[in-house]
Amino acid sequence: MKKIGIIICARYQSCGGGKCFRALKERAGAFSIYEPEEDVQLVGYSNCGGCPGGNVEYVPEEMIKNGADTIHFATGLVVGYPPCPYIREFKEYIESRYNIPVVVGTHPIPLKYYTEHEKLSYWGKMDMQDIAPELFRDDEAKMKAYD
Ligand code: SF4
Repeated sequence: MKKIGIIICARYQSCGGGKCFRALKERAGAFSIYEPEEDVQLVGYSNCGGCPGGNVEYVPEEMIKNGADTIHFATGLVVGYPPCPYIREFKEYIESRYNIPVVVGTHPIPLKYYTEHEKLSYWGKMDMQDIAPELFRDDEAKMKAYD
């Protein structure tokens, strides 16, 4: 069984997690790395604590105590307005400090966000396809389903 924790962007801290939970069930977006028949349990869900993300230092420990073996950053970090500028640093820190893999992304990128971000020069420069390759495997129909 896989056990995962999710860290969301604090700007969306009131989010109920609907898209993330749905995508986990559907093995969509970054959750496509798990086989449909694989049991994946969510053992932690929190936010970064607000810019510049102080909670990232501590919250993985709590998730790991609950058995987490992978941490996901929510898709909102990738397609927020603006996207989180610290994704690479957060990922490197958690993987170095806690020796646990970090996957950037949860649910598929909603098509309406993808379309808008594609127009933004700075988004292109952030090289999100390199940071979150799993999120760029969804086709338009799947992204549209998460609008
Ligand atoms: S942009 Fe990054 S550091 Fe700022 S609140 Fe969102 S996830 Fe946290």
